Amino acid sequence: MRLDSKLPNVGTTIFTVMSQMAAKYHAVNLGQGFPDFNPDPKLLNLVSEAMASGHNQYPYMSGVDNLREVIAYKVKTLYQCAYDKDTEVTVTSGATEAIMATALAVIQSGDEVIVIEPNYDCYVPAIRLAGGIPVTVAMDPPDNPQATFKVNWDRVSKAITSKTRMIMLNFPHNPTGAVLTSDDLDQLEHIVSGTDILLLSDEVYEHITFVAQGHLSLASRPNLAARSFVISSFGKTTHTTGWKVGYCCAPSELTHELRKVHQFMVFTVPSPFQHALAEYTKDPSTYRALPDFYQAKRDRLAQGLRKTRLVPYACPGTFFLLADYSNISDVPEAEFAVWLTRNHGVTVIPLSAFYADQKSADANHKLVRFCFAKNDQTLDDAINKLRLV
Ligand code: GLN
Repeated sequence: MRLDSKLPNVGTTIFTVMSQMAAKYHAVNLGQGFPDFNPDPKLLNLVSEAMASGHNQYPYMSGVDNLREVIAYKVKTLYQCAYDKDTEVTVTSGATEAIMATALAVIQSGDEVIVIEPNYDCYVPAIRLAGGIPVTVAMDPPDNPQATFKVNWDRVSKAITSKTRMIMLNFPHNPTGAVLTSDDLDQLEHIVSGTDILLLSDEVYEHITFVAQGHLSLASRPNLAARSFVISSFGKTTHTTGWKVGYCCAPSELTHELRKVHQFMVFTVPSPFQHALAEYTKDPSTYRALPDFYQAKRDRLAQGLRKTRLVPYACPGTFFLLADYSNISDVPEAEFAVWLTRNHGVTVIPLSAFYADQKSADANHKLVRFCFAKNDQTLDDAINKLRLV
């Protein structure tokens, strides 16, 4: 039987591979990004109540009315962008579906799509399945542990051709923790002004920032919002990664195209979760509490790492922190991550896994990614093991 793979270079994701390895070696898993604690019991009760009160059949295709209303309100109050809940807000099966549906909806065969590298793993396959051509543009790495990776806008600008259809962005940034500054937004505005380039802005960590300015959404700039699919996920915001509820806000003509794909990809998203999240998210303290909550965990991990031979890097956003292992080893990142799991019982993700050419020197900075969305005890257990490395 002849079978030509549409994604010949795709294997099992690094997150699954490392989680399986963590289980095999009984390692403390600070690799895959998911909380090891339960969401707020209030939210769990709201799901049970939604089920008991009969919200168990297909909800409306683009998401239940209350949830779209709450999302539109949240985005308006935080980013001063008024999306119409009926025509511009779509509830999706996690951010992953929003990303795939956006790509399939607007990328045509041969279109070029700029991806900022290192990048989250689902972007390039989404572009390829849509028939597009990914064009990766590397961020500038930090030259000291107090700094972060930064987008090199000159390089982005030079990568643009007449075939560029879209730029995919992700800030706060997984895996580096970098956040956007207003200068970044100025430069992006300048680059896309007068073009037909669309933007996909993956903002799933929007509520997890540790900087005074908070998160700078593309929705906060009218010139950018007009050409953007702004995507987020309740998985990160409510500690429910397994529920797979996300959303996409985009101007109506963009949303119209997105929904054509969404309706045939999943049609809709589980009803009880949507009703529960709508009720829960009405209270802004549920997301406004996240920076303090996660900052304490970030600081606990960073302070713990300072007692080891690993060197933690600055983390202005997300629940991921990079650390340099060059005091311990000079093997490539992937090898170091496997060794650390097997020999010392702590699982991390190699930063190189977020690059197209994972073995290249440019992808290997001797940095690994730690997830600190964990109970304090889990973080302490990992530190105790790392002190022996
Ligand atoms: N986003 C999570 C991470 O970066 C993983 C999600 C997944 O396993 N697909 O670790």
